[in-house]
Amino acid sequence: MSRIRLLPEILASQVAAGEVVERPASVVKELVENSIDAGARKIEVVIRRGGISLVRVVDDGCGMDRDDALLSLERHATSKIRTAADLAAIATLGFRGEALPSIASVSRFRLTTREPEAIAGTEIIVAGGRIETVRDGGEAPGTQVEVRSIFYNLPARRKFLRSENTESRNIEHQLHLQATGHPEIAFAFVRDDRIAFQLPVAASLLERIRDLHGTGLVERLLPVEEPSASARIRIRGLIGQAGVSRHGRAQQLVFVNGRAIESPVLTAALREGYHTALMKGQFPVTFLFLDLDPSAVDVNVHPAKREVRFRDPAGVREAVVETIRKTLESGRRDWQQQFQRPVTLGAATENVAGIAIVPHPAELEPGGLPDGPGDWVNRPSLAIRPQFVEPALPSVGPGEGGGLAPAEGRIDIASAGNQFQIIGILNKLYVLMENESGLVLVDQHAAHERILFEELRRRMEEQGVPSQRLLLAQTFELAPRDAEWVERNTATLQKMGIGIEPFGQNAFKIDSLPTFLEVSDPVSFMRKVIDGLKSASNGSSPLRLGEDMIAKTVCRHAVKANDPLGYLEVEKLISDLLECDLPYCCPHGRPTMIQISLAELEKKFGRKV
Ligand SMILES: [Zn+2]
Repeated sequence: MSRIRLLPEILASQVAAGEVVERPASVVKELVENSIDAGARKIEVVIRRGGISLVRVVDDGCGMDRDDALLSLERHATSKIRTAADLAAIATLGFRGEALPSIASVSRFRLTTREPEAIAGTEIIVAGGRIETVRDGGEAPGTQVEVRSIFYNLPARRKFLRSENTESRNIEHQLHLQATGHPEIAFAFVRDDRIAFQLPVAASLLERIRDLHGTGLVERLLPVEEPSASARIRIRGLIGQAGVSRHGRAQQLVFVNGRAIESPVLTAALREGYHTALMKGQFPVTFLFLDLDPSAVDVNVHPAKREVRFRDPAGVREAVVETIRKTLESGRRDWQQQFQRPVTLGAATENVAGIAIVPHPAELEPGGLPDGPGDWVNRPSLAIRPQFVEPALPSVGPGEGGGLAPAEGRIDIASAGNQFQIIGILNKLYVLMENESGLVLVDQHAAHERILFEELRRRMEEQGVPSQRLLLAQTFELAPRDAEWVERNTATLQKMGIGIEPFGQNAFKIDSLPTFLEVSDPVSFMRKVIDGLKSASNGSSPLRLGEDMIAKTVCRHAVKANDPLGYLEVEKLISDLLECDLPYCCPHGRPTMIQISLAELEKKFGRKV
């Protein structure tokens, strides 16, 4: 049986398509969401030429009978159930069918569907919104939608499509979103007759992410720890450890009530949660799921439902920031484990390791340890570095390690309590350490930055950073806008050890600076600080401002990359780092530590293939 029928309101559908169907990726999104709603356990997406020539989505979901199939192609089919009550309760992905007529109005469209128990299925063919064929079809249970030659009837829209590669990438990203949101569904993606990925049903989000992105990434993710306080919002998922970041947002995924969304509120919250754990211009890696009462979110802000509006944006933001912060700190114990000296360094080798740090290389057994460490300790130029840090810093004072009077007894006592094993220093910058899994490299500059940063932040929160009077107080003028900013933040600046106060219209007097700073020109220093902080902190809390301030000044002051350190200094540096709240990265988000496993070394040396 075949009949020709005109879809109602083709034009209206095309207009609606302009909002919902922007590009092949949006077709994929709508079709895959329909499949998910249909209870599919397996979804296959086939595209050709960036989806411009073909998008085919095949699922094994519940399928439709003929009436429903036809109804799904009518523009207002689902609008009828859009009462206020329905709307508030909508927790599913979308209104099934809402997008189908739009897609069918701008393409050559074929839908085949069959309910599992039905003898025959239905095939409907539509071209540019005109139903051309409706007949029995003998497909497998489920629904298959084929969209060919998108925008063939709207050349103006077609011109806005990007290159096939770009469209393909958009589709792939869209599928990553869907696959991440639904580990319980198997996905396959075929691009130009080649399998791009094939994801079996996954038992967990972690498993799905491993299948998508590999074990390398999974090992650097932390399960989200929920702050106990808020019952109004549930947050779960996985996020990248501090120091894990990307150049783009491809792996910054946030789902609200199961839907992948973009939200400035959440983007800002992620940034703030990561704060000093993120490199400038980088994006965090997150697979975050927020579950809220559906009435607390408006999903209908964007036609394609990509954006949401929260009823309590501040509350959501706070919950996300807290969750991220707690989660980042939670990885600490695992991280510290990497500094454990290997257990295999038992009684026999313990001794040798001890000798290695005692400055008498002559006593080393011939053929024993490589002479690197002993040699390193003994070089006088390296051993004596009293200017390691300013006296203001209690973390590594010259009295305890900075001076490195190489008294053997002291070294033994100092190292006795250590659970880690230092081997030496590479290029005056990287501390080499040995652990169970192989080699640990610590960037001593980044490590020192982190230690200084946390120390100063603690002081700032407690009693304020100690400051030192300038020999001559200096006055300077600022542009009105900057002046206003300084006035607003004077209290924070003073807590930071910067003695600044208003001195007439748009003018200020500065008479002290933090003791740890060595600044030859306080005025130009202040101008730089103000510039940096203004752009960094968009009016956020004084604490954030203070953190930015420290992060910006600390870097110049931390151990220079090629400052040679003595053994005790290095040892102190590592134990101080291990005590930090967020030891994994410097306050600018660069990692402090890298692990190179024995397996990697074996591979490089061809011991294992
Ligand atoms: Zn840094």
